[in-house]
Amino acid sequence: MRTVVDTILAEVFERCRDNRDGTLADYIPELAEVPPDTFSLCVATADGHVYEAGSSDVEFTIQSISKPLTYGLALADRGADAVAAKIDVEPSGEPFNEISLDPVTERPRNPMINAGAITAASLVAGEPADRFERIRRCYSAYAGRDLGIDHDVYASEARTGHRNRAIGHMLRSFGIITDDPEDAVDLYFRQCSITVTSRDLALMAATLANNGTNPLTGDCALAPEHVERVLSVMTSCGMYDAAGDWIARVGLPAKSGVGGGVMAVLPGQIGIAVHSPRLDAHGNSVRGVQACRELSKALELHFLHVGRAARSAIRSSYTVAQATSRQRRTDDERAALAAHGDRARVYELHGDLLFAGAESAVRSVEAQSETVDAVVVDLHRVDEVSDVARRMLANLRDNLEAQGRACAFVDPEGHLGAVASSVDPATRSGRVLVDLDSALEWAESVVLDRHCLVGRVPESVEPAAHPLFSALRTDQVASLVPRLAVVEYPGGTTVVRRGDPAIGIALILSGRVSTTVTGPNGTTHRITTFAAGMTFGELPTLTGSGYLADIRADTPLRLAVLTPELFAELGASAPDVKVALLERLTESAYKQLDTVIRGLGAKGPILAVP
Ligand code: GLN
Repeated sequence: MRTVVDTILAEVFERCRDNRDGTLADYIPELAEVPPDTFSLCVATADGHVYEAGSSDVEFTIQSISKPLTYGLALADRGADAVAAKIDVEPSGEPFNEISLDPVTERPRNPMINAGAITAASLVAGEPADRFERIRRCYSAYAGRDLGIDHDVYASEARTGHRNRAIGHMLRSFGIITDDPEDAVDLYFRQCSITVTSRDLALMAATLANNGTNPLTGDCALAPEHVERVLSVMTSCGMYDAAGDWIARVGLPAKSGVGGGVMAVLPGQIGIAVHSPRLDAHGNSVRGVQACRELSKALELHFLHVGRAARSAIRSSYTVAQATSRQRRTDDERAALAAHGDRARVYELHGDLLFAGAESAVRSVEAQSETVDAVVVDLHRVDEVSDVARRMLANLRDNLEAQGRACAFVDPEGHLGAVASSVDPATRSGRVLVDLDSALEWAESVVLDRHCLVGRVPESVEPAAHPLFSALRTDQVASLVPRLAVVEYPGGTTVVRRGDPAIGIALILSGRVSTTVTGPNGTTHRITTFAAGMTFGELPTLTGSGYLADIRADTPLRLAVLTPELFAELGASAPDVKVALLERLTESAYKQLDTVIRGLGAKGPILAVP
């Protein structure tokens, strides 16, 4: 199937194809012999998909595109400081083969001009005989295949490369190179003669875009801590004395070579490669530059392109009056949450939390902090949290707590560095909770502790005082209670399993139970939690169906069970009792449904109505 990317690539290719400006590099005799009109264009994504146009499998010598790669190897071998002591990172505005050092620092101005590149080659670790093989392996790791060398081009340059030898000896005389400069120059000639296709080059660029790891092989070609520096010098110096125009019109870190290749990188996104051997006066491929300009425009790749200003990372925000937890509540608690639930606010964040998104989210939370007692910051949809964002969130929590407000994070993936505490919100160590529901329950408890002084869930109830019986007369209760079966379960035990037949209507006398389902990946999700004074198991008892979910005792549990047989028998022996019980059950079912429906509205509709 032809994609939009294929179409754009083909259009750019067509627009550049007839441009025959420029000439072959002829100062290396062998390069003057290559077919001048070969042309190809490749784009590789940071996850390794390659789009190609033209003859993308033609091999050519990498030439100066080797410079950032060897510089990266020198950084890895010697460390950034040792390399910086020998090679600066200032754009020179000079031709690539200028025989010059910075007059003040007496160092090569950058690793993209030959003086810097020969110095970088001299810094590659290993015995002289092994160093080239290390370089070749390193480039191969970028490309994801074993690369070879063009011996003719190497021999040709080695025979005629007097200017580079002059640079090598100059570096030796200034003490930048301390060993035999001929070795460093020879290594440099060899690295320039390594052959690549434009497909290879696009994958090498994609490897840099992917922070140094080849997306197809998973091999690390360059440690992430050095990628930024390599891309920096490509940005400021990669296109030699045309670097300024390149940044303005293409806006990508890039490197060209006199073999006609150009490689450009959009960090985190894609790598681009063009091969077309005719060069302009700077030594850059004419169609390479043109194609990169066109591609950058068509694909909107300029790295300083401002798509939109950073938006807040807040996806939605609501109070616990609008969306409640799955903890079933007493009538008084429900009323208190409806009246005072706006004192606890949830902020759901999403996307990558970098500086700008975190800053505006934290600012919004702080702006509303006076109106709340509890804040939940939900990070479960956040992909990545930068160090500075982590610091800002920790600071937000400290500030809120200093103002006497409670703050909890939902952070199942541990973005904040703290391990999320267990499913049981009662053990809220550090108040980093594994799921939004536990956090909602925690926020509700903050509100209820302040605003609901009566009618809270009791520690325990006696069977006769259970709210299910509140509509019965005392004598009716007195004759029913002795017929209930009182059972106890230790905390952590499973009371019933999904599909089990009904044990009856279970009246909770003390303790807590949760209905849970196990997801496809094995994680357990809580559906509802019930506590003393509540009932469960009505549906299977009334309909004769099996349980829809597992039911587990969260704590030691005491139940009084009205068995299915007893319930059926009441129809004959005490129909008025049965009717009163059913009225109570129906009323409670509708209240629960009401709570669920309100919550759906606040947390975001499941179905959008056009
Ligand atoms: N080997 C070539 C040289 O140093 C590489 C130059 C280049 O590609 N710009 O002359």
